[in-house]
Amino acid sequence: MLIVMKLRAEREDIDRVKERISKLGFTPHEIPGEQRLAIGITGNQGKLDPEMFLNLPGVVEAIPVSKPFKLVSRDVKAENTVVRVDGEPIGARELAVIAGPCSVESRQQIIDVAFALKSQGVKFLRGGAYKPRTSPYSFQGLKDEALQYLKDAKDATGLRIVTEVKDTETLPIVAECADILQVGARNMQNYSLLEALGDIRKPVLLKRGLAATIEELLMAAEYILNGGNYNVILCERGIRTFEPATRNTLDLNAIPIIKKLSHLPVIVDPSHGIGVWDGVMAMSLAAIAAGADGLIVEVHQDPAMALSDGYQSLKPAKMKRLLDKLEQLAPIMDRTFTPAHAGAEALP
Ligand code: PEP
Ligand code: MN
Repeated sequence: MLIVMKLRAEREDIDRVKERISKLGFTPHEIPGEQRLAIGITGNQGKLDPEMFLNLPGVVEAIPVSKPFKLVSRDVKAENTVVRVDGEPIGARELAVIAGPCSVESRQQIIDVAFALKSQGVKFLRGGAYKPRTSPYSFQGLKDEALQYLKDAKDATGLRIVTEVKDTETLPIVAECADILQVGARNMQNYSLLEALGDIRKPVLLKRGLAATIEELLMAAEYILNGGNYNVILCERGIRTFEPATRNTLDLNAIPIIKKLSHLPVIVDPSHGIGVWDGVMAMSLAAIAAGADGLIVEVHQDPAMALSDGYQSLKPAKMKRLLDKLEQLAPIMDRTFTPAHAGAEALP
């Protein structure tokens, strides 16, 4: 249920509604809006009677929400959510670009690529430390050593760090390094992890599972919001279909559908989505044309030598071309994007 408060409702009226919800054994969630503040209720098994709230001062409406996801839904919050990471927005008019290697492989590798990306105007650096790999014999990531290298790259460049959290055991140490915690496709329905992420206040990048429906993705996000962490960014990264020509099938349909259902930002991972580097430009532009709020792209200085996902990684020069195209496309989509041009910080 969603309790809508009157315009400029008094704090004591808001708190009184929240108190009643808590006393009933449910959880109140304050949802600020441009016009009015609303209070979402979760934790109730059956239907709630609107009369329980309508008599409280400051309440104008009590709306039942019948979907299996509530807090992520546009029914509960009409305006787009903008997740701010150290001042840098994701979900705002400005397109957000996250880039970097699939895995952190050495201190030099991540620092070099970080400087190259920074000089292009990228604000977010990705790099896997704890890697959930399909084969136990594949490179599993440099783990804590990689987290230290990511911190070094952040200190050197100021880029915000996006790295994957694989399980609840390593969450505290990964959260200490990450500005955005990535939940990988293989973990989208790891409910213990989702609940733990609900308890912390760091933004979460939630990737769609390999064979997850849009509704399942939204319900996974709901776990995190239900825990009280409202800073969730959704990521379409391709799903498994019968088509063997590409690693996955990037489901661009998901973008307008999610945008209709949810207020959360949606970004696209074209690298895993198509799985081959020479398809990344096309799918990136298509994603933005479909309404995505940004991209997460794998970039490596020497893809042939990469320890994971080299075949789908762009070299920095190709990434630069992609960013220039994004700048051209942005205004058509009523967005802005400003890569760094000549004169920007030189490569080290
Ligand atoms: C990754 O980002 O490198 C990754 C493992 O992605 P996904 O979870 O989407 O497979
Ligand atoms: Mn990868």
